[in-house]
Amino acid sequence: MPVVQEQRIVDRIRAKVGASRMALGIGDDCAIFRPRSAREELVFTTDMLVEDVHFRRETHTPAQVGYKALARGLSDIAAMGAEPRFCLLSVAFPKWASSSWIDRFFDGLLALARATGTELAGGDLSHAAAFTADITVCGSAPVGASLRRSTAHAGDYVYVSDTLGGSALGLATSKGAAWKRHLRPEPRLALGRYLRTRASAAMDITDGLSLDLHRLCLASNVSADIEPPPLFRGASLEQALHGGEDYELLFTARPNKRIPAAFGGIALTRIGQIRRGHAGEMRQAGKPLPIKGYDHFS
Ligand SMILES: [Mg+2]
Repeated sequence: MPVVQEQRIVDRIRAKVGASRMALGIGDDCAIFRPRSAREELVFTTDMLVEDVHFRRETHTPAQVGYKALARGLSDIAAMGAEPRFCLLSVAFPKWASSSWIDRFFDGLLALARATGTELAGGDLSHAAAFTADITVCGSAPVGASLRRSTAHAGDYVYVSDTLGGSALGLATSKGAAWKRHLRPEPRLALGRYLRTRASAAMDITDGLSLDLHRLCLASNVSADIEPPPLFRGASLEQALHGGEDYELLFTARPNKRIPAAFGGIALTRIGQIRRGHAGEMRQAGKPLPIKGYDHFS
């Protein structure tokens, strides 16, 4: 099995933190906090967007960078089946960032914030050699209703939303619908909320299906058998299995749960089944599926 470095770093940090008093601590798309005597639980995620790692200023407009800074966090909120409530943004601007670039960055971010009911409630401004934005998004769900990645069981079916590989294709070609897909991923917020009562486990696909399904299997202590996932028009199977930044939802459901073929115009496709067996192991079309998704530390 290939070395998955990011997971190891997270595991080491979790060990240092020790016992968690959260409803759910380190390791999922969001942490879950239950205020005393509340009917809702709060979910929190934090996401970093770094120049030349997540975007290039030659190819991304400031509004697109602003959109993406928030969209990534909202995708984690969607993965929990939660509703976004507010966000906090810390951002370091480099010398090249003009005041109009900064204005248009915030315009892009705030347009998505308004469209999704996510208030920008505060943050911090600084400067750095490379543009860096860190966004914390808070969402809410009824107590106990948030979806997790650690609750898939043997026998559950595995599903993905829409198609995969579009963002990787867009990154490779810089044109057409695939490039748009790379620039403007749609956080699947309505779908996430719909799945609250239907899915047994969920997460968003950010680093490629192979790596993210591996993470879901590890967290749930199960293995999985899958078939080729639905491909974005023009994308290769390699891009769909291992390309990052699709921001679709990966979820599991008991076989007796009816999952419609589509929700809100987004296809929901059954791609396989959860099995008992070696935690984290995956097979695709009967053969071991290698993990080649994007890992920041490998
Ligand atoms: Mg995630």
